[in-house]
Amino acid sequence: MDFTLTEEQRLIVDTVRAFVEKELYPHEDEVERLDEIPPELAGQIRTKAIAAGLYAANMPAELGGGGLDAVSLVLAERELGRASYALQMLVERPSNILQGCNEDQRNRYLIPAIRGERHDCVAMTEPGSGSDIRSMSTTACRDGGDYVINGTKHFISHADVADFIILFAATGPEITQSGPKKKITAFLIDKDCAGLTVTRGPGCVSNRGYHQCELSFTECRVSAGNLLGEEGRGFELMGQWLGATRLTVAATSIGRARRVLDAVTGWAATRKQFGQPVGRFQGVGFQLADCATQLEAAELLTLKAAAKCDNGTMTDADAAMAKLYASEMLGRMTDTAVQIFGGMGLMSRFPAERWWRDARVERIWDGTSEIQRHIIARSLLRPYGG
Ligand SMILES: Cc1cc2nc3c(=O)[nH]c(=O)nc-3n(C[C@H](O)[C@H](O)[C@H](O)COP(=O)(O)OP(=O)(O)OC[C@H]3O[C@@H](n4cnc5c(N)ncnc54)[C@H](O)[C@@H]3O)c2cc1C
Repeated sequence: MDFTLTEEQRLIVDTVRAFVEKELYPHEDEVERLDEIPPELAGQIRTKAIAAGLYAANMPAELGGGGLDAVSLVLAERELGRASYALQMLVERPSNILQGCNEDQRNRYLIPAIRGERHDCVAMTEPGSGSDIRSMSTTACRDGGDYVINGTKHFISHADVADFIILFAATGPEITQSGPKKKITAFLIDKDCAGLTVTRGPGCVSNRGYHQCELSFTECRVSAGNLLGEEGRGFELMGQWLGATRLTVAATSIGRARRVLDAVTGWAATRKQFGQPVGRFQGVGFQLADCATQLEAAELLTLKAAAKCDNGTMTDADAAMAKLYASEMLGRMTDTAVQIFGGMGLMSRFPAERWWRDARVERIWDGTSEIQRHIIARSLLRPYGG
């Protein structure tokens, strides 16, 4: 086993780190205050990310993307994860699922997304269907050469700034090994489609400037040419790419945790009480030691899952363990950091309270911690017929 980064991987880390520090950090306070990224600023950051070759790093090189393997992508996303989420998401990685596009869809959706000309969002969750995604009630009914869509999605990230939606809808029942279920199909929907309304959702405790929306479909008609993949195979398509998406959450959590640990260690080394730096008190030093150890463990777990992704052996459980452990580690780390910063940790002019709030969502989106544990337990029990 060789843990040394290649020359290319080191270059990726250095380039992304420099971009984050120069182009993203300076805007964090403004985004936090406004709960918005001014559109001109968003455009400038995207343009710079494209010029720096950082955009669409997850997409195949032959289509104009960065063509990074999973390990390199985790390293890049780890560095991006240091910055506040709304800003780092301007260095876009279009949804992996778009790789399921056919030739025509590539030209209309995937390639413009890789070039930064169009932006996607993914709509699965509904008010009545969260973890149990297959219970969704949004329907797409075939009508001649079209599908007619009705239903409501909520919590859909950045639908306010997206140009098109990767929508999952039920297209009828099917019999599966575990009984009758809804047949789920993926569609590509332009946001200006008649019958679709997008409204911003309630304010969220995490990630100011990055909004989630409600989508309402009323007799929204799309051509069968907008079907992504095969009819009824949306669940499989989602599953094919979910692992890689979960590695993104893990990588982001690791990058953020590294920044938090650096900041809180610096504080503990200089903040004096009772005549000595607080980090010298065992009660504080041991907390830092636990944070550092858990961060290292999360990073190794995530890089191992990514290496398995690259050699085609990553399982759902590998990705679930990385997402679960890294996101929970970040939650513990940010809480510990606030404690070590003391009262200052709760003040809004200090980033610790933001890191603490922002960390919370990582344990919920892209499958809650409980769902990750469910996936891991299922993989343990499977060989025993459980
Ligand atoms: C800020 C934000 C952005 C989001 N962005 C998107 C997006 O872009 N696109 C999208 O489609 N979705 C998005 N989501 C939705 C997100 O993926 C869901 O919130 C998540 O999957 C959980 O669903 P839920 O909130 O309905 O909770 P529920 O599924 O109702 O769960 C409630 C609780 O029950 C637990 N639970 C549920 N089932 C089980 C089980 N089998 N075993 C044990 N415990 C269980 C859960 O872990 C949780 O603690 C976003 C959510 C947030 C908060």
